[in-house]
Amino acid sequence: MSTKLDRVIVVKIGGATLGSHDTTLEDIAYLQQQGRLLVVVHGGANLVTKWLTKQGISTSFVNGERVTDKAALDMVTAVLAGLVNKEIVATINSLGGRVVGISGVDGALIQGRIREKEMGYVGEAVKVNLALLEALLGSGYIPVVAPLSLHSFDRPNEAPLWLNINGDTVAGEIAAAIGAERLIFLTDVVGICDQSGKLLPRLLPEEAEALMASGKASGGMVPKIKACLRALSNISTARIIDGRQPHALLREIEGDYEGTTIEVGK
Ligand code: ADP
Ligand code: MG
Repeated sequence: MSTKLDRVIVVKIGGATLGSHDTTLEDIAYLQQQGRLLVVVHGGANLVTKWLTKQGISTSFVNGERVTDKAALDMVTAVLAGLVNKEIVATINSLGGRVVGISGVDGALIQGRIREKEMGYVGEAVKVNLALLEALLGSGYIPVVAPLSLHSFDRPNEAPLWLNINGDTVAGEIAAAIGAERLIFLTDVVGICDQSGKLLPRLLPEEAEALMASGKASGGMVPKIKACLRALSNISTARIIDGRQPHALLREIEGDYEGTTIEVGK
């Protein structure tokens, strides 16, 4: 079975889309019915923090990513691959979509290694199992991916078999590996903004790099920009848009929607 992977739209849904009244999952079910091929990657950091706090476990972030010890990894796994993934999958299913929830661990979708010691069990992706995505897409399913990776490379003795990996990173790696038609990040701001909070509609990769280097883009925007730059090795544009607006995804796919485009050459 051959699936046109270059027609795939990779969508990362972030904090703004999870929980509350959101139309993004409706849009995903609708777009599938229109014959679009979608791969969805989700985050859910806020919910992980909520559950860690409930357990009296403190947690910290560096450049938008959680420093992950074993307790945090357990919670990330339970909350993201469990609760959040099932919530998204069951909701899209109830809206008539055909959808399978997986994590980067399942089918060895994402094989990774520890990125830097200081961050603990945070992974960087080394390899993506495209055959699994192709099989699911070819059978008419939307893969909904929770951001974990296998700990396949350079694993110290006794270290966990899997790692926490940022959802943005996973989306960027999948888009790059597939050579996706589009990569869209739905987030909780209008896009990448300058210091005065004004939307930057178009950025070259080097301009996006400069925003990170100067600290004008920080926190959760850092892994997003890095993921866009990674994906641009194999796709032409990446988009960061406001997921808080009703039907943001549909409007993005069907026409002009505000947000930031990062592209090679303006
Ligand atoms: P998501 O759940 O979508 O991954 P994050 O909170 O991780 O959301 O990342 C988005 C956040 O990045 C914004 O809410 C904002 O606080 C932060 N941010 C940092 N720098 C910028 C910037 N230059 N433009 C827009 N947002 C920025
Ligand atoms: Mg984030």
